[in-house]
Amino acid sequence: MHDKLLVLGTGQLGLMMAQAGAALGISVDRLDVAEGLLYPGTSSYALPVTPETIKARYPHATVEREDLLEDPLTPVWAPSLGGESAGWAGLGRRDWQKSLLDSLGLATAPWLKLDSPADLQQAQAQWGGVVIKRCQGGYDGRGQWQVKPGAQVELPADVYGGCIVESMIGFSAEVSLVGARTRDGQCVFYPLARNWHDQGILRVSHAPAAVAEGLQAEAEAMLATLMHAVNYVGVMGMECFVADGHLLINEIAPRVHNSGHWTQLGTDLDQFALHVRAHCGVPVHVPRVSGESLMINLIGHALNPQLLDAEGVDLHWYGKSVRPGRKLGHINLNAADRAGLLAQANALLPLLDQHAKPVLASVIGLFES
Ligand code: ATP
Ligand code: MG
Repeated sequence: MHDKLLVLGTGQLGLMMAQAGAALGISVDRLDVAEGLLYPGTSSYALPVTPETIKARYPHATVEREDLLEDPLTPVWAPSLGGESAGWAGLGRRDWQKSLLDSLGLATAPWLKLDSPADLQQAQAQWGGVVIKRCQGGYDGRGQWQVKPGAQVELPADVYGGCIVESMIGFSAEVSLVGARTRDGQCVFYPLARNWHDQGILRVSHAPAAVAEGLQAEAEAMLATLMHAVNYVGVMGMECFVADGHLLINEIAPRVHNSGHWTQLGTDLDQFALHVRAHCGVPVHVPRVSGESLMINLIGHALNPQLLDAEGVDLHWYGKSVRPGRKLGHINLNAADRAGLLAQANALLPLLDQHAKPVLASVIGLFES
């Protein structure tokens, strides 16, 4: 068992890994690779460090953002990550990811590389509605263009060569599976979460998702195949569309995942603890799930102080400056049953900002109908 883990990246995901590590006596320290600054544990103060001290101190490293897997600075700070993650480093690139899914026979939205306007015409002729996505650097719906059947779209010239284009999927729901693989190949999974997005950004998750029986086993088989194929270590998130009663993988996140935040309140082993354990060689078990959970993202609005002492509200506030569209915190709710969960969600509604409120209201409406 290792008692130290380095995280590349200094956002909320690394912070929550540090919180989980602290409970196990494991120092999870976060590195700003561009500035050469280390944030020990959950501290908001940083120390200047050199690659030599970092390499000597941390036997293992992980990333909180997939683009860091391919950052030219990553091998400078964490050569172990390069070696360990050689098999999955390409998961930070959408085109590599889609090719891998195809080669493993895992269902994903049909796609092609967007190298010229002719590719776009071909995609539109074949599929009608299409979605153009940047291969690198896109997140929360950024670097993405949805084009309705037959519609024209103004695109920056640099999309050609740097994007994929895929078929717009008419899905009945979006779900995600979060699971982990240990160094010796053991896999464990949480139940599927159902997710609601708005403008490409995750707003609300509910778990365990109320979906057709069989989808959990289908999802676990897909994610296990993928994690074994790349010799993955740690937590991975798999976002899927439910279409015609089956799963189509939308994308893979080789890291802890926003749709897994509910596990902090709804299970006895949350995704951050699971990720740290898998990396540090601490035993893992299949997480025990209590009742039903909802996770609501707090995006782009200052903290409503009333949330601080609202009953049943498990608030996580990341301490970031407020910007439109920025994920600033989240709330977990958990109850023994659906009725209890809906009572909590209804009580929360008046405390939410104008963006979160309508999404949660429509989720409540869906459950109550
Ligand atoms: P993330 O923040 O999850 O990394 P992202 O910006 O990488 O998001 P995607 O997950 O690919 O982007 O897409 C964001 C959302 O846009 C999806 O959750 C879905 O709601 C919608 N979307 C993406 N691709 C498609 C598609 N092919 N068909 C229909 N809807 C799609
Ligand atoms: Mg996504």
